[in-house]
Formats: sequence, C-alpha cells, structure tokens
Amino acid sequence: MTGGVVYLVGAGPGDPGLLTVRAAELLARCDAVVFDALTNPAILALASDRDSPPTLHDVGKRGGSSESARQGDIDALLIALANDGKRVVRLKGGDPFVFGRGGEEARALAAAGVRFEVVPGVTAGIAAPAYAGIPVTHRGLATSVTFVTGHEDPEKSTASTDWSALAKTGGTIVLYMGVKTLPTIVRSLVRAGMSGDTPAAAVQWGTLPRQRSVVATLDTLVHAIAREGITAPVITVIGDVVSLRDEIAWFEHRPLYGKRIVVTRARSRAASLSARLAAAGAEVIEMPATRVQPLDSAPLRRAVERMRDYAWAIFTSQNAVDVFWGVLRAASLDARALAGVRVAAVGPSTAASLRARGIEVDVSPERFVAEGLIDEMRARDDVGGRRVLYACAEGARDVLPAALREMGAVVDLVFAYRSVADGEGAAALRARLEAGDVDLVTFTSASAVTAFAAAVGRDAARAAPSAVIGPVTASAARALGIDVVIEAAEATVQGLADAIAASPYSSIS
Ligand code: SAH
Repeated sequence: MTGGVVYLVGAGPGDPGLLTVRAAELLARCDAVVFDALTNPAILALASDRDSPPTLHDVGKRGGSSESARQGDIDALLIALANDGKRVVRLKGGDPFVFGRGGEEARALAAAGVRFEVVPGVTAGIAAPAYAGIPVTHRGLATSVTFVTGHEDPEKSTASTDWSALAKTGGTIVLYMGVKTLPTIVRSLVRAGMSGDTPAAAVQWGTLPRQRSVVATLDTLVHAIAREGITAPVITVIGDVVSLRDEIAWFEHRPLYGKRIVVTRARSRAASLSARLAAAGAEVIEMPATRVQPLDSAPLRRAVERMRDYAWAIFTSQNAVDVFWGVLRAASLDARALAGVRVAAVGPSTAASLRARGIEVDVSPERFVAEGLIDEMRARDDVGGRRVLYACAEGARDVLPAALREMGAVVDLVFAYRSVADGEGAAALRARLEAGDVDLVTFTSASAVTAFAAAVGRDAARAAPSAVIGPVTASAARALGIDVVIEAAEATVQGLADAIAASPYSSIS
C-alpha cells in the first residue's frame, strides 16, 4: 500500500448540478484528475478553480491504439499517480460501474495493491429520460427496466445480449450507445415478438442545454433519428413509459430552451447573468468582451487619503467600488475612511457591493442610469458648494460630473480603471455567428458593445440580434448596426435576464 488513493468518481450525465456532493468535495481537494472525452468542462472547472489546481490528464479517445491498449495505459497511469502519493480522481461519465469500465479499473487497482474508493454517479440511462419527461418505470406501464449496451466490445466481450428474451420482459429497455447498431437491435426485438408500435425515444446530450429528443415507435425510430440528425451520445428508451412524455416533458419547455445566447460581460462579472439565462434553459456561450484593467492608483490613493475633504463619493459600477476598495485597503484604511461621507450608487449591484463592505448607500436612484442619479442629486440641498469624489471608468460619459458642477459642486473625477477588449474565444465565436449558430448576444455596457464588435468584426457582430441592459447600451449597439430586440425594463442583470426570458419566443431569432 502507498499513501496515494484513487477515487473512481461518477460525474453524472453532464449537467454539473447532477454531480454528487461527494464528487464535488473530492474534485475540490484532489491532486490529479483523469478524465474522458465527454467530460463537461464546467465540471473540470470545479477542480481547477483554486490556488493549487490538480494536474489534468485527458485520456479521451485517441486514434490509433486499440481499446484494450488504451485501457491498459489508463490503468497504468492511475497506478503510477497513486504510487506517487497522489489523491487521484478518476472521473467517469454517469456512474462508473454502468458501462463505464469502472469495474476493470477497480480490479487493476486492487491487483496492484492501490487503495481506491468508488463514488457512484447519476447514470445517463435514468437522467436523460428523466430530463426528456420519461420515467423509466411507472405504475401500470412498466414494472422493470433493463439497462443494456448496444455496443459490445468485439475484442473482449464474451457475454452477449439475448434480445429475444428482452423483448418478452414487458419492461422498459434503456439502450446505451448503439446508434449504429440500432437497426439490428430493433429488428431482433420485433422478430422476437415486440410490437412495432411500441413507443420509443432517443435523447441526445441528455441533461445539457443542447439536449434534443425524438419520439417515435420501434418501427419508425431509426428513420426518425436519421431525419433529425441525432448522433452520439444518445440514450434510447423503448417501452410504454415513453408515452408519458406528452404530459410531463419539462426541460425542453423552459422559456429559453434551445436558444444559444452569448454573454459578453467581463469574466469576473458574467456568472450571475450566465446562471440566470441557463436556469431559464439557454445554452450560454461566454465571450468576455472586456476585462477590467486598473489604472495608475496614485490619483485615487491621494483622494482616499484626504477622504474627509469630500462630502460625497459617487460610484457608477461595481468595478469602480472594487478598485476604490483595493486602493483603500492598500493604504491600510477601511470603511471608517468614509465616515461622514455621503455615498451615491447608480444601481442596485453597485449599492450591493458597497453594502457588502459595510457602507450603506445614501442615494440610489429609481432609474439606474446617470440621469436618474442626477435627478436625485438635484433634489437635495447638500450638493452645491461641496466636494465630490467620482471614481469611474476611463472614458465614462461626462453627463454626471457636468451636472454636478452645474449644481455648484466641486467634482474630482478619478479614472480608476479601464475596460479593455478581452476577446478570448473571439475567433470561434465569429465562426458561430457567421454560421447563424447564435440566437442572441447580450450587452451590459456600451463599452462591451464596442469591444465585442472589435473582437469578432463588425459584420459578424451584426449577424445576431442583441438584448441590452439599458438605453445607453442600446444606442451604442444601434450605432454599430446591431439589431436591438430586447431592452431591460430595469437596468440590472436580473432585469435583463427577466426581459429575455419573458420576451416572445419569436423576438429571439
Ligand atoms: N457510465 C455512463 C455510461 C458510459 S457509456 C453512465 O452511467 O451514464 C457511454 C454512453 O452513455 C453513450 O454512448 C451514451 O449512450 C450514454 N450517455 C452518456 N452521457 C449521455 C448524455 N448526456 N446523453 C445521452 N446519452 C449519454
């Protein structure tokens, strides 16, 4: 025995939400992850988002070597890593012991004297039908379910499936793999007496936003799969339970199901918009158009050190709060530096960032744009003649400082950061835009519009309609010839996500 250990972990069928708590825990603290071709990158990210990420070993399909040689290499890798004292997660799709060769790997580890544990996972054969609205058993329709592989390893399998016996069970048949062998399987089942009218369904990419299903009968399934262009990975369900889908399909009925939506927010800010769109069923493509680059901190530092001279501090973005706070902390100051200073925030997210740091906001307008803030400030009698600190993005619109000056305030405008084009993934996205593969692009700032168009090119930027957070962003998009089909009623990320989910289906191409 060595200090190392191998965890044979089921990753579930694809939706990261179907990972077990145990699997997430192990991913968060292992030293190495050994994974296959179908592994969802979002699940790998759970392992990598930390200070000392694990080493990643992709053992997905490689051309050339035979299956069994490949398996031997994987076993050897697991044993070598464990002998090196590593905590290794061997991540397998679905459940490791359901057509996953987990048993073979466990035997190899046992034979080598390597410590291992097994973490079961949600298997695709149950989850994909469930997400398609098909329960694998149902009182009165099916009292048993058989999981069967449509592909038998020609090299080593000695067991073979008795299709004619299966045809007679009367229970549900769930078929893994086997899109190619399906015609033969169907023929065997019908020959053994199963009715050609038996309901049957195929579910591709089950539990993922791109899930697609077709419903047919045993006689028509092969044709339906070809017609719809359904290819692996597919789970096929055969049996009367398939008919329940008419009543209880749910995943494919979510408002944004099947919609591919681009989120252009900076990576650090994208999570909440992406999560909200995904929760409404969209396939989210993140392409951060901009990234926050803090500017020379000296001017902001000087301002922070004489905070008591200011009657007001005004923030119009979370980024500005982040950068301001970083400078404050670097000067060994804290929230007390803002004692006696009134604070204004343009919108609820900015206000929330301040509140998270113990700063209550004095002014937060009902309309989340500079003009809303100006109206609120104008209605007060403690602005004229006072000194105001306004920390903002380089190149921010001048309307706010100009209006404050007009009210008689002395405004110190400090550029805290700059939004620079990020453009990660721009080439791949341009291709998808040009191919008409994107339904909607979201923008939460005018600078994101500009950076997006620069990254993918103006023609590609016009290839899909957009949804925008507010009027300023809308004008920026229209100025570049981008069609604006949705504008948030309330200029927040939540408002934007709600507007998209509620928009008539037809307004998203
Ligand atoms: N151990 C896995 C199965 C591995 S065999 C499990 O328990 O789920 C690989 C086959 O599983 C694929 O060919 C396909 O038939 C099925 N499969 C895996 N993930 C799937 C998904 N998200 N949607 C549909 N089928 C899937």
